[in-house]
Amino acid sequence: MEKLRNFIDGNYQEPLTKEYLENFEPATGKVYCMIPNSGTEDVELAVQSAEKAYPIWSKMSNDERSKILVRLSEGIEARMDEFVQAESRDNGKPLSLAAHVDIPRAVSNFQFFATAILHYASESHNMEGVGINYTLRKPFGIVGCISPWNLPLYLFSWKIAPALAAGNCVIAKPSEVTPYTAYLLGQVAKDAGMPDGVLNILHGEGSTVGDAIVKHPKIKAISFTGGTKTGEYIARTAAPMFKKLSLELGGKNPNIIFADCDWKEMMSTTLLSSFANQGQICLCGSRIFVQREVYDKFKEEFVAKVEKTVVSYPADPKAKLGAVVSKSHMEKVLSYVKIAEEDGGIILTGGKQVKLDAPYENGYYLRPTVIEGLSFDCRANQEEIFGPVVTITPFDTEEEVLMMANSTDFGLSATLWTSNIKRAHRMANEIQAGIIWINAWLVRDLRTPFGGVKSSGVGREGGWEALRFFTEPKNVFVKY
Ligand code: NAP
Repeated sequence: MEKLRNFIDGNYQEPLTKEYLENFEPATGKVYCMIPNSGTEDVELAVQSAEKAYPIWSKMSNDERSKILVRLSEGIEARMDEFVQAESRDNGKPLSLAAHVDIPRAVSNFQFFATAILHYASESHNMEGVGINYTLRKPFGIVGCISPWNLPLYLFSWKIAPALAAGNCVIAKPSEVTPYTAYLLGQVAKDAGMPDGVLNILHGEGSTVGDAIVKHPKIKAISFTGGTKTGEYIARTAAPMFKKLSLELGGKNPNIIFADCDWKEMMSTTLLSSFANQGQICLCGSRIFVQREVYDKFKEEFVAKVEKTVVSYPADPKAKLGAVVSKSHMEKVLSYVKIAEEDGGIILTGGKQVKLDAPYENGYYLRPTVIEGLSFDCRANQEEIFGPVVTITPFDTEEEVLMMANSTDFGLSATLWTSNIKRAHRMANEIQAGIIWINAWLVRDLRTPFGGVKSSGVGREGGWEALRFFTEPKNVFVKY
């Protein structure tokens, strides 16, 4: 069976621990490769190689770094099919999703930051007759990037690209559940001419190798995307070491539908915002609020469409939903369906595992699920399920839906469907979230700030925000 290796100092290496973990294919439920179960000693080795590489990388001109990152993005593009197959196999997502979203967006992330760094400027502040301040923005040195399993290469590259573009050396850890495309990335970086030790990719468990990255005194900043609980742990651990932190955490996003919306567009987009990637996108709108006068119409149409949604193995061109990422995650999602039922919820459709024919009979497939009849403050409406499960709830007034939308601890994104422009702006201003889409979902402009409020995170990614995160400002004053 294939054994993945860590990418340290420009070479693929066995973990110093000599230990490996099983990696499961969600579509079949079978182990298909082994990944390093790296430990503190592997992190130490990666830090030593990054320390050696830092003077070379940070002193390189922006232009040279940019060229290497452009070549890296082209390298992924050239191996598009291999990356798409790997992402789909590792995660369980339909091939079509990996081909149209995950890998092209990873390519764009590298392209974007490769060129953004050429336009990145720092400030100067003139003091009339006194002197002038100019602000330098310097890379940190070594930074840690830790990413989750739902959009593996896409979110991995969203961190690594700005960190590298700004001149840092990186110690990165993909999720142990979806390591494969990060594994492939090492070779692409080498082929692109990235100096050895600039990008180090370690595999293994969050609680060991992830923890060692967070705790290493020479790693000065941590960019983390994942669950709120893990984020809280990382904040608690890293704060006393005065590390800079960017935490992109969970969501429980409202999707608010007014009667005056463009119905057709709302309906097709709501199917996506509910169930794309098996509902495993932090931005999915898992709480759907519908104005009462169109609630029954919505329910009937939406449920009928959900029932027609094809759940199948990832390579099936008809598959709209593939497998969820792991057995334990499937069980977690099903446990929330049970909790919702116990709280008085009515399962309008779904709520069950799907058994496919061999060789997929042990894969982790779930029917997309729609639940109604729940109070806004029950567990299924307050806690992140992160699977193909949505609740639908009627509302009467703007005030009522705002109260329900803002009632959770989370505040990542929100979607609003209305043709009333005044209401759209008014509500966008009132909803507690870092990202608001009006009559749209998942439209991304890489220049815009990305991140959440409340328990959905601290800090922003994207555009200048990311380059600011990965640099330290240093102000210099010169007297006239
Ligand atoms: P997770 O369990 O928090 O893990 C995220 C990453 O952190 C993984 O690489 C994980 O490694 C690692 N990790 C776990 N414990 C750690 C520790 N003690 N120290 C350092 N690293 C540690 O999250 P997940 O289940 O992979 O991802 C799903 C969550 O991510 C959801 O809550 C979702 O909303 C959130 N998410 C947020 C955004 C956003 O932009 N806000 C985007 C996507 C996903 P292992 O895999 O080895 O445990």
